[in-house]
Amino acid sequence: MIEPPAQAYGQGGTNMPPVCLVRVPRRVGPFGRELRMRPKFSLGRWDMELAEPWLACLEEAWAAYKAGSLPIGAAYVAADGTVFLRGRNRIEEPPGGEGLSGSRVAHAEMNVLRQAPTASFAEMKAGALYTSLEPCPMCFGAALMCGVREIRYAARDGWAGAASLSAANPYVASKHMRVTGPEPLVEAVSLVLLTETSLRRASPRSLDIVAALAEANPDAVELGRAWLREGRLQTEAGRGTAIEDICRDIWRELGQGG
Ligand SMILES: [Zn+2]
Repeated sequence: MIEPPAQAYGQGGTNMPPVCLVRVPRRVGPFGRELRMRPKFSLGRWDMELAEPWLACLEEAWAAYKAGSLPIGAAYVAADGTVFLRGRNRIEEPPGGEGLSGSRVAHAEMNVLRQAPTASFAEMKAGALYTSLEPCPMCFGAALMCGVREIRYAARDGWAGAASLSAANPYVASKHMRVTGPEPLVEAVSLVLLTETSLRRASPRSLDIVAALAEANPDAVELGRAWLREGRLQTEAGRGTAIEDICRDIWRELGQGG
């Protein structure tokens, strides 16, 4: 049996949630009925739920999917562990929309960072930027220049991922950016959404991009292909299905979680 962590926060000298699934206490109401405050997942004998930052990233990624953009979401988490800023990819949406939209710079992380007040530069160093996909060179650089000193990403991106830029040159290295990832369960969800979207669009680079994603988790990419054939995500988007339910189905089909 997988033993989940006894606590969600405060490990490793930081207040950032260290894992994507956190143990939650049973909530018992009148007459012994269990109160389900929101969807949860079972893992062994434990009730689990997505840590708030990862849930925020996946909610944003799912919103981007439903809006026709790339399903990538991001969140800036303050030093006390609360989700402070959120953003999503909006490249495929009309210019002039909310935040950065209809532009090649309308990446999820950029839509988070654009909201950070200039005066908060020092405060940005205390929190962490969470993202559902390893940041590209633009977003890595923007995070660095906005004061972010910790990036946590869910899915590895063998196509455009830029985690290795942490030591690109003496200036960047002097900032001591901490980059951690992947987060396997969130990675699986992210890769299913990205694979389905990339193949459905059938751009000239789609096959290369999906091949790079498959190096991270071939089973998740294969599930993304299957769900494209079935029209599964398009159907769920039309129904307004919550991302927690998408997660549960993906993990069940991949034999992860419960
Ligand atoms: Zn980017």
